[in-house]
Amino acid sequence: MTDTASTLTPVLTDTWDAERSWTLATYEQHGGYRALRKALGMAPDDIITAVKDSGLRGRGGAGFPTGMKWSFIPQDNPKPKYLVVNADESEPGTCKDIPLMMASPHTLVEGVIISSYAIRANRAFIYIRGEVVHVIRRVQAAVAEAYAAGHLGKNIHGSGYDLDVVVHAGAGAYICGEETALLEGLEGRRGQPRLRPPFPAVAGLYASPTVINNVESIASVPSIIDRGAEWFASMGTEKSAGFGIFSLSGHVKRPGQYEAPLGITLRQLIDLAGGMREGHELKFWTPGGSSTPLLTPEHLDIPLDFEGVGAAGSMLGTRALQLFDDTVCVVRAVLRWTEFYKHESCGKCTPCREGTWWLVQTLARLERGEGSEADLDLLLDQCDNILGRSFCALGDGATSPISSSIKYFREEYLAHLTHGGCPFDPARSTAWA
Ligand code: SF4
Repeated sequence: MTDTASTLTPVLTDTWDAERSWTLATYEQHGGYRALRKALGMAPDDIITAVKDSGLRGRGGAGFPTGMKWSFIPQDNPKPKYLVVNADESEPGTCKDIPLMMASPHTLVEGVIISSYAIRANRAFIYIRGEVVHVIRRVQAAVAEAYAAGHLGKNIHGSGYDLDVVVHAGAGAYICGEETALLEGLEGRRGQPRLRPPFPAVAGLYASPTVINNVESIASVPSIIDRGAEWFASMGTEKSAGFGIFSLSGHVKRPGQYEAPLGITLRQLIDLAGGMREGHELKFWTPGGSSTPLLTPEHLDIPLDFEGVGAAGSMLGTRALQLFDDTVCVVRAVLRWTEFYKHESCGKCTPCREGTWWLVQTLARLERGEGSEADLDLLLDQCDNILGRSFCALGDGATSPISSSIKYFREEYLAHLTHGGCPFDPARSTAWA
């Protein structure tokens, strides 16, 4: 890729570098809340149709069509409808929603109002990861500004539509990024996933019809209403329309957020990020956070869309691209992630609660060079007993880095055994290759 400038599609990130980009004044100077006024003149169902036609798929990882999710809300149900924004961004490597809320919180707030209007909700919740107090304050300030300007509250811009928004701080549990655990947390209970059905669209928050969407999904809505579904669908690929924020972290020269059409390749993104750090080469990477199977340099040219990454044996996930160069021990990296999943397992189901503990024991033994080759098969067997047998996706996700790293780097695991420890540790070894 040579023409890197034309690769970027700044929409969500367009004003991030503007002075005081987070304020209402700056947002409105750049056309902010224009889409809201347009939306309030439309029928709610027409907004749902526009979002369906745009091809927008959930940006939180699962990729479910957003407009279709909205259409599942039963409008003949007399109970109140709710919109809940999942802003509990905690996946290792994922850093797109937090920068978005810091730099341009009004994009999210405007998206919340339009989306709530579309599903006929009069109350919306933004559930933000509790550790990021600065983000919570920034979104609270944006909501307060929106109220003061008449974008929120009673009879918004004389439309007869009322909406209140609550900014809720989570309590620091990764599992609350799972939508039903998030609802439990929002209702004041311990964050653990719920059995489905019933699905949230039928009985979600307070047993009422509820739409739960990721921050980036909701923040994409104003641009779709403002510029049209066709405009959005003209970017990306046929089945993965539009653009998204790719977060690059690790051993690239300029880590950060790069907004680009879905279907871009990692090779292009590395080019945009200035290349890998001097003198080193890419060894392995995650396409969508540590819950997605690892990929290698042989996958540099796969399209980063839902289909392309799936065909390569992984998942697009949250587009959290963590890049590791040839100085990194894959076994140690995988052990770190596995310790995270063990710590964050909510304990509700046995395969995940007990299984992640056993994964750490076996992996740590291998990493210290104290295991045997049979431990590799034992690890895969432990993964097999978790995958598909856990109550929610956390258990499955915990197995992804392990099984994929053994698939691509079995020799490196074995080198730990022959070297009596990590061959990348200069105190233990000098000669592994
Ligand atoms: Fe909890 Fe893990 Fe079971 Fe999910 S898979 S319900 S996080 S114990």
